[in-house]
Amino acid sequence: MTAPLRTIGLLGGTFDPIHYGHLRPAEEVREALQLAELRLIPARIPPHRPRPRAGPAQRVELVRRAVADNPSARVDERELHRDGPSYTVDTLAALRAELGDVSLCLILGYDTFLGLPTWSRWRRLFEDAHIVVTERPGAAGPLPAPLGDELERRRSSDPADLRRSPAGRILFQAVTPVDISATGIRRALALGESVRYLTPEPVRQHMAEAGLYGYPRL
Ligand code: ATP
Repeated sequence: MTAPLRTIGLLGGTFDPIHYGHLRPAEEVREALQLAELRLIPARIPPHRPRPRAGPAQRVELVRRAVADNPSARVDERELHRDGPSYTVDTLAALRAELGDVSLCLILGYDTFLGLPTWSRWRRLFEDAHIVVTERPGAAGPLPAPLGDELERRRSSDPADLRRSPAGRILFQAVTPVDISATGIRRALALGESVRYLTPEPVRQHMAEAGLYGYPRL
């Protein structure tokens, strides 16, 4: 029997702002897969995304504050420092080159997983990482056919499979559904509504102090 590899979870996102819908499912994946590390990788926001939004430095600051008390979490800013668009497939290849023989597990909410075939060189992702799909309330719909084919070939129902090999499997991990979105938080702030308990308190405080997303400046 193959010995388990050091297993690292990767959570990419715009984190505009980070919230419990990112953090709680990722924590449950950490436990189920016995992750040695959870790496949060803030993405550059493509210019066509609608405003209002926070700049990269602010989004990273919010992510840092969100996980400051979490010894397993690490914030990786590489996509923000790279010029031009950041493709996940390139980020994964860079991480693989750095980290060597580890298991890399890319964590995606179901909404994001459904869009996978639109990503650049998406089938190559499986050379460097596994994919762990978590439920997301409101995200439903049929799998695009090419994704269904990949799923049939790669699906595993045992987290241990992902710990024993570096890449290439797809696992659906049951998590507590958390119906929170960054869009919802931005909208609430624009309307002057409370966002308390949707995100860790240090995140809410920083948004208030910096007047982010229309939060009235303290
Ligand atoms: P926005 O509302 O601005 O589109 P978002 O809340 O969807 O943002 P992202 O930063 O785009 O957050 O998401 C990053 C990753 O986290 C994606 O894989 C997404 O599917 C997942 N995710 C975000 N919110 C949830 C949630 N509530 N439950 C499960 N997964 C989530």
